[in-house]
Amino acid sequence: MPTQIDRRTVLTATTALAAANLLPSGALAQTPAPASLPARGEFVVRGAHVLSMDAAIGDLPSGDVHVRDGAIVAVGANVNAPGAQVVDGKGMICMPGFVDTHWHHWTTFLRPAMRADDPKHTYFPVTFALGVHYTPEDSYRSVRLGLAEALSAGVTTTHNWAHNVRSPAHADAEVRAMRDSGLRGRFAYGPALGAPNDKPMDLPDMKRLKGDIGKNDMLTMGMCSRNIDGSNTSRGAINAEMATKEWNGVREIGLPITLHTNGSASIQLLDGANLLGKDVQLVHPLNLAEKDFDTLLKHGTHYSTSPLGESGRSGEMQFIELMQKGVLVSMSIDNVTAERCDCFACMHMLQTINKHRTGGKFKLTTKRLVELATIDGARDLGFDHLVGSLTPGKRADLILVKTKGPHIETVGDPYDALVQLAQPSDVDTAVVDGRILYRQGRFTGLDYEKVTSDATQSFTALKERAKWS
Ligand SMILES: [Zn+2]
Repeated sequence: MPTQIDRRTVLTATTALAAANLLPSGALAQTPAPASLPARGEFVVRGAHVLSMDAAIGDLPSGDVHVRDGAIVAVGANVNAPGAQVVDGKGMICMPGFVDTHWHHWTTFLRPAMRADDPKHTYFPVTFALGVHYTPEDSYRSVRLGLAEALSAGVTTTHNWAHNVRSPAHADAEVRAMRDSGLRGRFAYGPALGAPNDKPMDLPDMKRLKGDIGKNDMLTMGMCSRNIDGSNTSRGAINAEMATKEWNGVREIGLPITLHTNGSASIQLLDGANLLGKDVQLVHPLNLAEKDFDTLLKHGTHYSTSPLGESGRSGEMQFIELMQKGVLVSMSIDNVTAERCDCFACMHMLQTINKHRTGGKFKLTTKRLVELATIDGARDLGFDHLVGSLTPGKRADLILVKTKGPHIETVGDPYDALVQLAQPSDVDTAVVDGRILYRQGRFTGLDYEKVTSDATQSFTALKERAKWS
């Protein structure tokens, strides 16, 4: 495995590659990485069942993936890679990393405050009561814990839906956590919980942070809007006039927009105010009307579905209707406070809900579900030119999934195994931008003991400040 090397060495190598035009645009902006991250090296995964998610390459029952300096160099049978470190892929599936498209990482360390059977201690009341007391360091530590779970479960790209940005320092802390983790993602700058609905969000600071992040292949930025359908006032309740003011301002800065919805009202309100577009991602396709599907298709607006959470809400999960119509649908974790990060279970749930709702009338293959969880997520977040498939020239975001153990052996169709049998503990290796961040079930750069003890310490202090019991 690549060993940790001096940060100056990384910079020197990066500068030399840039001078030789071997780095993609934005690569300089994504370095230097935190010193704790393992370096990008050269390695070849050999003998894995490769699911490339690239139609031109297809699948290889025994294939190799060659990675050098963060990029995929070659995918094929018996790839010639002299000098490259060999990663034994036998007995494993090699595939693109999962792409999550909506996840409130800041809520992660609130787990101990949750009680599923006590209405006062479920997700919304707890996150609101404690969220208003967050310090920037709390945000950092909670996001770090969420990103650790993401990596261990095979998620290599995430959409950090930060709807509790209490100050510019909180925004900086969340971005720092993303950078320190080594994952790829979008930071969606949101409001502070409890912010007045008649005052706009901090657009000048969004502009400042976008400038700080710069052109960057690892980290991009967006904006998460306050709710506009009045369905959950703890997450804001703005009217069309405020939405127009904020969204127009955000578009001038050049940020994509994301919004929680519950039903048709928000879609029709946005359409009426001419606010829908390709730069809009909506979350939770529940309770939509037939006319909404055409409206979304017309504007190129996409939807993120969070199977584990949505299946516990009222209304039908309408990802099927959206997919049939041609609207881009992706998959998301939402939170790991009252749920877990399990992309395998999420895909399985979409499969079973489709059968439950349509009796299988709409064909949704296991391969299509893996596409939805990888390349379609990358399309949703605008990362598909970089990741989402194992394509030479793309950045190397990939995972190895073990097919060993009584719950999965003897494996048959690899897509069926991923959707119906696999579980997060089967993720053996996770690579992001050519850095092996997780190997044989262990973090290679992240100090897990410190991440968890910091999270516990922060949560304990937060509870005291908030007088929470
Ligand atoms: Zn959400």
